[in-house]
This record gives sequence, structure tokens and C-alpha cells, in this order.
Amino acid sequence: MKHIAPPDTGDDDGKGLLIRRIKNGTVIDHIDGGEALNVIKILGIVGSTTETLSIATNVPSRNMGRKDIVKISNRELSKEEVDRIALISPRATINIVRNFKVCEKQGVEIPVLIVGNVRCPNPGCITRTNEPIKSRFAVLPDGKGLRCIYCDSVITKDLTNFII
Ligand code: ZN
Repeated sequence: MKHIAPPDTGDDDGKGLLIRRIKNGTVIDHIDGGEALNVIKILGIVGSTTETLSIATNVPSRNMGRKDIVKISNRELSKEEVDRIALISPRATINIVRNFKVCEKQGVEIPVLIVGNVRCPNPGCITRTNEPIKSRFAVLPDGKGLRCIYCDSVITKDLTNFII
């Protein structure tokens, strides 16, 4: 499942060998170096799901120094899904690949609301009880934090620690 690319195959234009190898699916490029696993988590992709993942970490990048790349075969991520990535890797770019060609390329935008995947820091929050309620967080205007819409708890740093 895990593929660590040799460091010389990175290509900042998104057209390198790493990108071409996928037939259909989504390539998330320009992830901040070291954040690939958090990107997978915030997308809700866990060991029990069936996607084929390839992960390249610390690929040299002209603009970023180093970057991570995640490829997900046979799945096209929705805009809502990919925008979550903006919270941890605002420079990420999303490439939708069909039959080895990049059909759509877009950046990520800071979302307004995050539903699920993030745990409220307040142990008394209704989303942490056994009630079947998904967490819902409003994203602060600058994208620098999340506010629970049930109990108003705010997460302003170490967001990745709260990703379920
Ligand atoms: Zn809460």
C-alpha cells in the first residue's frame, strides 16, 4: 500500500513520473512536507477503507523545499472533501486523473464548516457522548482555528491532534 518514492522523481509542475503512474483517481500535490498522513486522516481515509494509496514524502520542490504527494486510485474526491486539506496544507493542489490524464486541477479553499473527522476538545461536548451526533466545526474567518457549533470550544493550534 505504501510507496515511498526516491527523492529525485518529484516534479513541481505536477507532471512528473509520480503523477503519471496513476490511471484514474486523485493526486494531491504540494502538501506541506511531513503532512501527508494528516491529509489522509482529515479525508477520512483509514485502514479499513478500500482505496489504493500511494504516498511520497519529502519530495524536493522548487517552491516549497520539500513536499508530500498523495495519490488515491479509483476515487475522485469532492470539493468538500479536498477543502479540508486547506486547514493543514493551504498550498495543496488537487489533480483529478482520468485515463492517465489530469482532467481537473484546482487549489484548496478554506471551508466554512467541517463535519466529522475532528474531535471536540471539550469532554462534556454532546458530540463526545454516545449520541449519534457528528462533530461540526465552523472554521474561523482566517482559517486559523475551528469552533465547535455545539459547545463553542475553539481549536486554534495543533489541529492535527484533534483529527479522528
Ligand atoms: Zn464541542
